[in-house]
Amino acid sequence: MTAILQNVSPEVAKYLSQDSIKMYVDGQWSPADDGGVFPVLDPGNGSVLAKVASGKASDVDRAVRAARRAAHKTGWSTMPVNDRAVILHRLADLIDRHVEILAEIESLDVGKPIGQAKGFDIPDAARTLRYYADLSVHTRRREPIAVSGYEASSIRVPYGACGFIFPWNFPFLLFGWGVSPALAAGNTVVIKPAEDTPLSTLFLAKLAEQAGVPPGVINIVPGYGENAGAALASHPDIQRMSFTGSPEVGRLVAEACGRNLVPVKLELGGKGAAVVFDDVNVDAAADALSSAITLNSGQVCCTATRWVVHERVMRQFVDRAVSNLKNVDKGIGYGLDSGTKMGPVVSEKQRQRVLGYIERGEKEGAKALLEGGRASVPGHEAGFYVKPALLTGPSDNVCARDEIFGPVAYIMPFTEEKEAIELVNKSHYGLANSVWSSNLDRANRVAESLVAGNSWINAHNIFKQGIPYGGTNLSGLGGGVLGPETLLDYLRPQSIVRPLS
Ligand code: NAD
Repeated sequence: MTAILQNVSPEVAKYLSQDSIKMYVDGQWSPADDGGVFPVLDPGNGSVLAKVASGKASDVDRAVRAARRAAHKTGWSTMPVNDRAVILHRLADLIDRHVEILAEIESLDVGKPIGQAKGFDIPDAARTLRYYADLSVHTRRREPIAVSGYEASSIRVPYGACGFIFPWNFPFLLFGWGVSPALAAGNTVVIKPAEDTPLSTLFLAKLAEQAGVPPGVINIVPGYGENAGAALASHPDIQRMSFTGSPEVGRLVAEACGRNLVPVKLELGGKGAAVVFDDVNVDAAADALSSAITLNSGQVCCTATRWVVHERVMRQFVDRAVSNLKNVDKGIGYGLDSGTKMGPVVSEKQRQRVLGYIERGEKEGAKALLEGGRASVPGHEAGFYVKPALLTGPSDNVCARDEIFGPVAYIMPFTEEKEAIELVNKSHYGLANSVWSSNLDRANRVAESLVAGNSWINAHNIFKQGIPYGGTNLSGLGGGVLGPETLLDYLRPQSIVRPLS
């Protein structure tokens, strides 16, 4: 046990100090078929937090078979929706009751400030579970169709075994957003969490057992992307697939699903922008956007990474943002420490990605208004910390084009509304943007002109059950979460027809 585990709750210390954390398949905790394990690091200090079973193709196959069996044999797919919703509510209650433990695990595993995990990530997963459980009760599964000469209806039935592959930035939250509608619709699931951050998802399996979720309904196979992930994406017996992660891997998953003709939805990366007009409270906008770019150390797919600011207020905006980011810099720290404003990025690989982008951007002509770089936290020198950075320069700079996934913002001035819209829409991504103006006609007009799944007005990063959240272009395909449509995504339509004569 590392020194840091002596400072966590006894439950978390016990969970992490097992010889290895096993996978959860068919209601059983089992090692990988080949006995393999992989280390999960604490990004805050670089030490090994836990060893986890490393799933391969045979483990995935076992999990898919269990999920298919469970769909048909446990009654999960066919039980009255109320009964299923009661179990899911019980699971949501257990998540709320374990919020401290789950938040600690999430903070240790991802590096995020514990307050963020406790205040949003964990409770919002429970909220989403309840939202879809309730929605499932009120969703009509049988619609009569009025056609002369026939008795006809359309029914909606669950697909069966659904696969899920998740990234490392919001492991528990994304489980809640992604998996809840599939379960509420009556499907069973096989989940491949990110290799960097599998711990909270595996802990959830314990709560699912306690809630009475039947064996085989939720299966969790941790492992590396090229092994467990690729095996799940290409498994011919998966009946629906959902992937959240980078466009590069999204393409591979979509190709594999395409070969098997398995429907797939992709929630991918982003390069969000914020357009700030000169009629706003400039300091308040700069405060909100500084918070957005440093939330989760900038590892947020939809955050505002490009700040498109009216030239008249540019100076004031930059001064305020630089002062905010310097303040965050002073609050960089270990996720479990209460004074921490921003934790580390998830891995040394991710830190190198962030630093590499800043270096390339500057070589291509970007100017640093605030230098980023490595950060060091006393007592946690081996952690993967980076400082926030603010760059400016031409709109075709690599840092204005690519998703960096770190606390790095790129600011560009504009004069005319049309110019701002063109700057934002230059991106091949299309996840989320925001418009900041006190003229609501203009704000709405610009919001509608930005090509993305989400346009927010006078705020950035709004997530609410009932409001669909998803991407277009490089940011996603066939998907979206949090909206009522997502429940229907997990119900396939079937028509039932009888001639009347
Ligand atoms: P990633 O694409 O590298 O990995 C995502 C998952 O895919 C991991 O579980 C990984 O193990 C798995 N994987 C890797 N190779 C695979 C393969 N060949 N076959 C199948 N699975 C494989 O992404 P990441 O670095 O973990 O996460 C960051 C990315 O996720 C960013 O682009 C971010 O914007 C995106 N993201 C999007 C959303 C959204 O809702 N749109 C949410 C969070 C993160």
